[in-house]
Amino acid sequence: MALSLDLTGKVVLVTGGTRGIGRGITSAFLDAGASVVTCSRSDVEPVPGSTHRVCDVRDPEAVTALVEAVVSEQGRLDVLVNNAGGAPSTDAATASPRFHDKILALNLSAPLMLAQAANRVMQEQGSGAIVNISSIARQGSFGQTNYAAAKAGVVAMAEVWARELARFNIRTGVVAPGTINTDMIAAMKPEARDRLVSSVPLKRLGEPEHIARSVQFIFENDYFTGRVIETDGGLR
Ligand code: NDP
Repeated sequence: MALSLDLTGKVVLVTGGTRGIGRGITSAFLDAGASVVTCSRSDVEPVPGSTHRVCDVRDPEAVTALVEAVVSEQGRLDVLVNNAGGAPSTDAATASPRFHDKILALNLSAPLMLAQAANRVMQEQGSGAIVNISSIARQGSFGQTNYAAAKAGVVAMAEVWARELARFNIRTGVVAPGTINTDMIAAMKPEARDRLVSSVPLKRLGEPEHIARSVQFIFENDYFTGRVIETDGGLR
């Protein structure tokens, strides 16, 4: 799925950019000529052509240090992609407050802290874009109270930031994936996977590249801000 964008000279930070959807976003920006920095908790081999830094995005000091390191090494920051996230199964009736906080820390608070750190840099340079990765779960997926709340929250935050940051030439956007072909799906039993696929109107899973295209559209289209691109094969 080749893109014809030329993003030479642009610097992109993709949280959780080493696996799954994040890796697809990283590869797409690299293909377009951008410099890409990924971060995750693991000290893994970088996606070829990118730079990797170890950072737990739930740690506010580590997040500040991460963004400072990106700017000191790369000179600027054009796009922040708040991708790191995830959802262990949750039960709305019994999930403890502690468990709820844990899910929100990764999926809601971390994107805010990253956006705050990126905003400081982007205001100074006079431009930038912040993209949050939400989920179809934000519409109320069964059994996912905590995750759905967080994924709805990143949409709300992007709308607020769009209004607050427009005067600094900083735009925001959200991509809400449906069911994407990542390790999680590969690990499913074939029957369960087939059931999942049959529930998608397009009758196939999305690929990380589909999400990457939507992220790049948000960056490329400078009249886009504060809105959501649902990239889900028509699934509801
Ligand atoms: P994966 O589990 O495949 O990858 C998650 C990435 O985030 C990894 O690189 C992981 O690395 C990193 N990560 C996890 N926790 C942290 C942390 N605390 N600090 C820093 N990095 C972290 O996820 P997916 O590709 O499936 O999902 C990516 C995003 O898309 C998530 O926000 C998810 O909620 C969303 N999404 C996914 C869908 C899907 O079908 N896959 C559907 C809808 C939304 P490490 O473990 O080494 O830290």
